[in-house]
Amino acid sequence: MSDSPTNTLNTWVEVPKNSDFTIYNLPFGVFQNKRLSPRIGVAIGDKIVDLSVLDQEGFFSDMFLPEGVFLNESLNELIGLGKVITRKIRERVQDLLLEDNEKLRDHSARGKVMVNRKEATMLLPVKIGDYTDFYSSLEHAANVGKMFRDPENALLPNWKHLPVGYHGRASSIIASGTPIIRPKGQMKNPESNTLVFGPSKKLDFELELAFITGKSTKLGDSVSTADAEDYIFGFVLFNDWSARDIQAWEYVPLGPFLGKNFASSISPWVVTLEALEQFRETGPPQEPEVMSYLKCDKPHSFDIQLEAYIQPEEEKSSKVCSSNFKDMYWNVAQQLAHHTVNGCNINVGDMMASGTISGKERDSFGSMLELSWNGSEVVKLESGTERKFIEDGDTVLMRGFAEKNGVRVGFGELKTKVLPAK
Ligand code: MN
Repeated sequence: MSDSPTNTLNTWVEVPKNSDFTIYNLPFGVFQNKRLSPRIGVAIGDKIVDLSVLDQEGFFSDMFLPEGVFLNESLNELIGLGKVITRKIRERVQDLLLEDNEKLRDHSARGKVMVNRKEATMLLPVKIGDYTDFYSSLEHAANVGKMFRDPENALLPNWKHLPVGYHGRASSIIASGTPIIRPKGQMKNPESNTLVFGPSKKLDFELELAFITGKSTKLGDSVSTADAEDYIFGFVLFNDWSARDIQAWEYVPLGPFLGKNFASSISPWVVTLEALEQFRETGPPQEPEVMSYLKCDKPHSFDIQLEAYIQPEEEKSSKVCSSNFKDMYWNVAQQLAHHTVNGCNINVGDMMASGTISGKERDSFGSMLELSWNGSEVVKLESGTERKFIEDGDTVLMRGFAEKNGVRVGFGELKTKVLPAK
């Protein structure tokens, strides 16, 4: 791969410096505002391109799209049309936004097509059928193993042979901006070692990315690692909220349940696989050798920088960790191949999260569980405020972006405030 940009693209849209939404990105999302009913748009700079208006004005007439496909409240019908179509739509939008292209720039409907992002409310981008959470960061799995089980045998024997995962709950996946309520449940009181019921005292975030499937399989069929990316439409930031005290008490023998299923938050703009192409990387070496259905003949990792911030009420936000998606031991093609190797079918709009993305260094740990080492140490914020876990009134923010040779492709912001238990 060459290190210099192949071609520089310029747009007539004003894109602020360091914007995640450049002409190279063009993520898809669902928005509405005071005037407009829910519809599908593409983000660029501080604007949203209203695809439904572009469609009405005939800009996609050669593609014979289903009527009203951009007036849906989710991306499911659109991404279900397949990658050949969605890629064409994205390329058409990119072409229309190029500096020298006058077709939209000088069109009388331009004002109607370009909507201010600030005035828009972003909705959940997909109707999520099923949600799976993997556990694909070696560093995260090892850290949790050390704390919850045995420091000598932090990784269980299966971990390097298959991408461990569990089936989560789709109903409680919420869009950025929606607050969550502190969960209640059963947990052990660490001092008295007695069983208590009440609000979780160890509410935590998990810094993750999730991919959204755009193609279904039949029950009984499997997806190979070579074909896996045909099934992946794009990615969002994913905060897999976790109550560590509830989780620690309940998770043996069947794994996460109420400690995880009360909420997960996602960023509203779906960054396509096409936009991430130039950030493709080879993942870490896998030793021992994986079984043949998990072998890959091309790289499936992506160099995406990820950050988590805590913002206590009345305070500025403070960065608590930065890690990178490319360090994940298991990649997305292996996750999908493993998920379907037994014949489990997938549908358009399924969400598969990576698992907490932790790096090797202390400041790259993607959860408070790891950053505070299960509450045994404090995490100091810039203001001097201290945290071990997330408190009521705190807002957790996540950001993610890829940047190379002056090209930036990012996810925008994922923001969730924590409200007291009911
Ligand atoms: Mn998780």
